[in-house]
Amino acid sequence: ATANIGVVGLAVMGSNLARNLASREGNTVAVFNRSRSKTDELLATHPEANFVSAFSYEEFAASLTTPRTAVIMVKAGKATDAVIDALVNVFEPGDIIVDGGNALFTDTIRREKAVRETGINFVGMGVSGGEEGALLGPSLMPGGSDESWITLGPILRSIAAVAEGEPCVTHVGHDGAGHFVKMVHNGIEYADMQLIAEAYDLIRRGTGKSPAEIADVFAEWNRGELESYLIEITAEVLRQVDAATGKPLVDVIVDQAGAKGTGAWTVQTALSLGVPVSGIAEATFARSLSSHPEQRAISRSLPGAEEDLEVEDVDAFIEDVRLALYASKIVAYSQGFDEIRAGAAEYGWNIDLGAIAKIWRGGCIIRAQFLNRITEAYAEAPDLAVLLTAPYFVDALGRAQGAWRRIVSTSANAGIPAPAFSSSLAYYDGLRAERLPAALIQGQRDFFGAHTYKRIDKDGTFHTLWSGDRTEIEAEDTH
Ligand code: NDP
Repeated sequence: ATANIGVVGLAVMGSNLARNLASREGNTVAVFNRSRSKTDELLATHPEANFVSAFSYEEFAASLTTPRTAVIMVKAGKATDAVIDALVNVFEPGDIIVDGGNALFTDTIRREKAVRETGINFVGMGVSGGEEGALLGPSLMPGGSDESWITLGPILRSIAAVAEGEPCVTHVGHDGAGHFVKMVHNGIEYADMQLIAEAYDLIRRGTGKSPAEIADVFAEWNRGELESYLIEITAEVLRQVDAATGKPLVDVIVDQAGAKGTGAWTVQTALSLGVPVSGIAEATFARSLSSHPEQRAISRSLPGAEEDLEVEDVDAFIEDVRLALYASKIVAYSQGFDEIRAGAAEYGWNIDLGAIAKIWRGGCIIRAQFLNRITEAYAEAPDLAVLLTAPYFVDALGRAQGAWRRIVSTSANAGIPAPAFSSSLAYYDGLRAERLPAALIQGQRDFFGAHTYKRIDKDGTFHTLWSGDRTEIEAEDTH
């Protein structure tokens, strides 16, 4: 046995992660893939790398020094279970199995429990940054036991992205915590992308600028408080010209957004936790709406707005869009961190929210300058209940809100969909409200279902005898 770490699953992500591991001093990497061809190809294309190839799970286990440590990078779902079962058969107590696929965190909780009974450690780890991240330095979100972190920590720190001198990895929390945080990361990514898309659409339709000209706007924004990987690549995509037609590439791409499910998981989980991640939900639904061409075709004749979007001062309009984007982005991150906080409370994880913002500063898709502000906010107030109430964000929202309101009303008046902008603003105003019409909803619920209500002026739970003489009685607290 010569390898200190192994990788199972050598498709795009696994092979790049294996190369990243092998490129670090002191590592010898055992590699295994279900079908032999991928292993052969990896070895043939990278003869320089310190790999030990295995062609069966037995060989793979035999090539690893103990405690054996293996990272699984296979298709999430049944494939992951199949590989875990196979590894459990050939590994021994004290060994460590890491699942780096995009597993649903509840699957990770289940797997961790089952594997722990064999004495083997199981770590669900979120990996972000796609192909390039896996090769050059991803953002890593491992869960699992403290014991496995002792062995894994140094290895993961050596391959993770580095942001401002710090590796983008931390022990997120026990069992499924890492995959939970990765899921929310992807949800925030959906929101961020949708907000950028809405900003582009408004600028294009409001100013008539070409995609290449709008690329310049995004490049400019990338030098300010919006600086981020997603803004940077947006400029690149908008600047791209299609070789076949000579048109902007964005104009020849079919306008139906795909999704692999992590956005939906974020929203489904938030619904069960009762956390309003409305910006993330709108972004997820906007992708769904785009992907129903039949519904869109029959809806095209629906009556639209009376007035077109006519922008008089182009620069002022673009600045308004920038501020609306910034404010909505603050909402999306605030909602995402709210979900992590609620998940941690529900599943008993001790998650350091400031540390999460830190490890997202490099390697991952939502890496941004802005994350430093989040880390600072939690450093000052670790128990902050609503991230956007941190002083820095209050100030930023104060500067942005006028523009944000103008953009939401302008888009509504012109019939341009801006679901993430407008739902984020509605969330902001909902949070701010002195009183919400939820009081009326409680009245309605009490009327049809005797669900009872609380009063603002005295303790207790009450019910009005709606179908009787409509007097109020004290009631058992039902819901
Ligand atoms: P795929 O998700 O396309 O999975 C292909 C790999 O899974 C192949 O190695 C395949 O082996 C293996 N596999 C499938 N079924 C089984 C099985 N029953 N037993 C053993 N192995 C099996 O590969 P990717 O590299 O794109 O992704 C790997 C994981 O990383 C996924 O969980 C993905 O969600 C996650 N991920 C992907 C990111 C990305 O940007 N692509 C980013 C972050 C995470 P074979 O060659 O034999 O078919």
